[in-house]
Amino acid sequence: MRLLLVEDDPMIGQAVLEVLRAEHYAVDWVRDGEMADAALRETAYDLLLLDLGLPRRDGLQVLRELRARRNSLPVLVATARDAVSDRVAGLDAGADDYVVKPYDTEELLARIRALLRRRAGHAGPVFEHRGVRLDPATHEAFQDGVPVALSAREWAVLEPMIARPGVIFSRAQLEEKLFSWKDEVSSNAVEVYVHGVRKKLGADLIQTVRGLGYLVPRA
Ligand code: CA
Repeated sequence: MRLLLVEDDPMIGQAVLEVLRAEHYAVDWVRDGEMADAALRETAYDLLLLDLGLPRRDGLQVLRELRARRNSLPVLVATARDAVSDRVAGLDAGADDYVVKPYDTEELLARIRALLRRRAGHAGPVFEHRGVRLDPATHEAFQDGVPVALSAREWAVLEPMIARPGVIFSRAQLEEKLFSWKDEVSSNAVEVYVHGVRKKLGADLIQTVRGLGYLVPRA
């Protein structure tokens, strides 16, 4: 899962970045509204964590422009503790939810997971398909009830496919889930992690669609 963090305060931004990376999200961090806008036009994110008070372009404006482009990306806005009017304005501008600063880390992560689940069309807290069960809250994987130790990147490759069986993910799309801008990406990285998942969960869980990418079959 790839997230865009928009936060101009360097201390808060760094702290949130570390929390998110520790949860194995691929995170890009920008510090002003124009950079945020550029990143959103450039990259397909899974979620946007958006501070509203930003230099160069207001967070609300970034959000309105995103929605004006009919982009339905899940958006979590961050507001100050007493700023009820900010929360209302954020939700009215198209945010899906908000968090209040200073962040409670556990709450932030839970709201992120909830939005990602909703986007994938799952009401429940886990992804389950073909005997494989992934719990995003704990990053545990099970096959027929037996725990399986997936690496963070094997997990990151598998999760979007398990969440949306039958949907083909291109190598580029899966790379976006794995890496943020500053990571070096080897050309066969996705193949390596798909191979790892197949070794642990069976060769036919992830199928290769020649020339297009990978999928987890629907049935
Ligand atoms: Ca700010």
